[in-house]
Amino acid sequence: MQSGIRRFVTTRNLLFSHSFSTFATNNALNHNIMKLLEGKTALVTGATRGIGRAIAVKFAQEGANVAFTYRQINSNAEELIKEIEALGVKCKGYAADAADYAATEAVVKDVAGDFGRIDILVNNAGITKDGLILRMTEEQWDAVITTNLKSAFNFTRAVVPVMAKQRGGSIINMSSVVGENGNAGQCNYAASKAGLIGLAKSIAKEMGPRGIRCNCIAPGFIVTDMTSAISEEMRAEWAKTIPLRRAGTPEDVANVAVFLGSDMSAYVSGQVINCCGAMSC
Ligand code: NAD
Repeated sequence: MQSGIRRFVTTRNLLFSHSFSTFATNNALNHNIMKLLEGKTALVTGATRGIGRAIAVKFAQEGANVAFTYRQINSNAEELIKEIEALGVKCKGYAADAADYAATEAVVKDVAGDFGRIDILVNNAGITKDGLILRMTEEQWDAVITTNLKSAFNFTRAVVPVMAKQRGGSIINMSSVVGENGNAGQCNYAASKAGLIGLAKSIAKEMGPRGIRCNCIAPGFIVTDMTSAISEEMRAEWAKTIPLRRAGTPEDVANVAVFLGSDMSAYVSGQVINCCGAMSC
């Protein structure tokens, strides 16, 4: 048996006679393992790689059915579906630009129709288009704000009526420590990530009476394609400044998402959980 909190056995199993073989006992114990997200349906945006992918897989490992979105049709989506279905849960991908309001409405309608419910929404899709304010173009600003912040409005707006009807749900916005602290060269990105925090806190207050929770995860420096553009030396330098002395992994972030998506966080709403190795605290 694994963790005492998340796994349980019935009293009947504990009372099994010693005459049962080890195999039989283990088999019976396995039947009583409760996964944290069993019976839930999750919708994860931008999930064909990086943090979104890790969340989709970890959610499936915890028993959730997984719907995910991706911007363009690609083989990564097919591979992800296969990997998740092999875990014994339902999975479907939807190609759509998260920044497009009408397309988002259509995707959410399809997901609700295909899966029958939506219990968890992870607003993960995001981009960077860095530049100092003196050189930042309107295009750079608009692209980042639209993809990172408006997309979360689009999905939240579309999902909230579904969750309200179910009288419950958990929305998770993928913010960043940069949204809390700012970062030179990333004013557009930092503003979008700070906006996600304001959005989450407002939704938590507005929709709490309907049983809907909304929180943010603020990752620090996580090794994904998004951060791969940074040189090896720079990454090593950063890692030295992180108290836990390493960059984070997508799985580190996915573990926080499992907590926020599950009933383990039933009384947690309107909060920002940093996942940054104490880089920001
Ligand atoms: P990533 O670039 O690997 O993944 C981003 C995903 O979003 C990709 O799958 C991409 O296709 C998708 N996406 C982008 N625009 C989209 C759109 N318009 N519609 C649909 N999908 C779209 O990056 P990642 O590191 O996995 O980042 C995931 C999230 O975590 C982002 O919101 C990012 O800002 C945030 N974050 C990352 C870090 C980090 O260090 N990697 C730190 C803090 C926050």
